[in-house]
Amino acid sequence: MSGALGGDHPPVFWHKVGWGEGSRATLIPTVRATGEQRGARRKAKGPRSHANGAGLALYAPRRPYTSLMAADLREVAHAERVGGRDYDALAMRVEGADLHGGALRIIGEQPGGHRTYPMYMASLPARSGKAPKASVLLNGGTHGDEPAGAEAVVAFLEADIAGQWPEFAFTVMPCTNPWGHAHARREGPAGRDLNRAFRRASPRTPEVSIIKRALAGRAFNLYVDCHEDIDAPGLYVFAPTRLGNAIVSAVAATGPIHQGDLVDGEIPLNGGVVATDSDRSRERRTGWLTWPLPYYIARYRQAHDGPTLSDEGDPRALSGATIETPTFLPMHQRVAMHHAAIDAALRLLREQPPRDGGTARGAL
Ligand SMILES: [Zn+2]
Repeated sequence: MSGALGGDHPPVFWHKVGWGEGSRATLIPTVRATGEQRGARRKAKGPRSHANGAGLALYAPRRPYTSLMAADLREVAHAERVGGRDYDALAMRVEGADLHGGALRIIGEQPGGHRTYPMYMASLPARSGKAPKASVLLNGGTHGDEPAGAEAVVAFLEADIAGQWPEFAFTVMPCTNPWGHAHARREGPAGRDLNRAFRRASPRTPEVSIIKRALAGRAFNLYVDCHEDIDAPGLYVFAPTRLGNAIVSAVAATGPIHQGDLVDGEIPLNGGVVATDSDRSRERRTGWLTWPLPYYIARYRQAHDGPTLSDEGDPRALSGATIETPTFLPMHQRVAMHHAAIDAALRLLREQPPRDGGTARGAL
């Protein structure tokens, strides 16, 4: 956790936040917050001159400092002890990223302990100004103890990588489990693995309902989900074979690839790829009672016109990749590996001829 309390600056009121002018992204709160919460959020945004990294170490209280409870302070201290990260700093980076005409929304507040955590979604229209050739969903931070996923997706926004792909529209969820990120925990605050909770809504997974609501009405040609693996000796990826192979060969220049033949002692791995278009993967999916987010996307949010990287034969195959970086490497290298993987997936999507519109629509 980068310098929470007691950093360079004391966590006091900011008198002038200087927010809102210039070409920053539009922030559209869609969840009703109380007047006090809204006021605190405005204050918490802090100075916007942190593009160079200065000021990121600030602890940004979501309420005025005078109303921070002792319990909040204990929670921050606990998060620091267990190796959690400063979600408020991450949120400031998301809000500070120049989205070049894109829109940033708070899609909901994840309840956790004595506070809530804003969940963000950025919508980046095709920079070409024309209708997008494909829609891409990018996600990080579903498992809070896999921080490079969220880091990579936030850095994707900060570095304006979408600008290199003007023909595509992007939907970006930088961190889908903020509490987990702050506490270095895989699960959400109610103890559930969110990536096994996308089949049915549950009172114990309010984040999942927030994400599903935010995705309503959207469909994607490609989905990249950024994760990590604490046991892996190198990167591996869950993806259709061709996409997986393209990712692995691109990433090999930036770091090691998992060369083993099993993941978690049971999932077959071949050259760093868990093939989601194999018969065995299809069989496994039919028996799933708990759905990971990628499977939910494949079932309900997958576009069936335009280019697709999914297996032609199965409309429920995943037209996407779950990237797993090995956590033993330094953070900057894991982020670079995620970016190389995303780049490879987008390159393949660019090369892919558009599918005859809508042939598979209605097959779900
Ligand atoms: Zn994970």
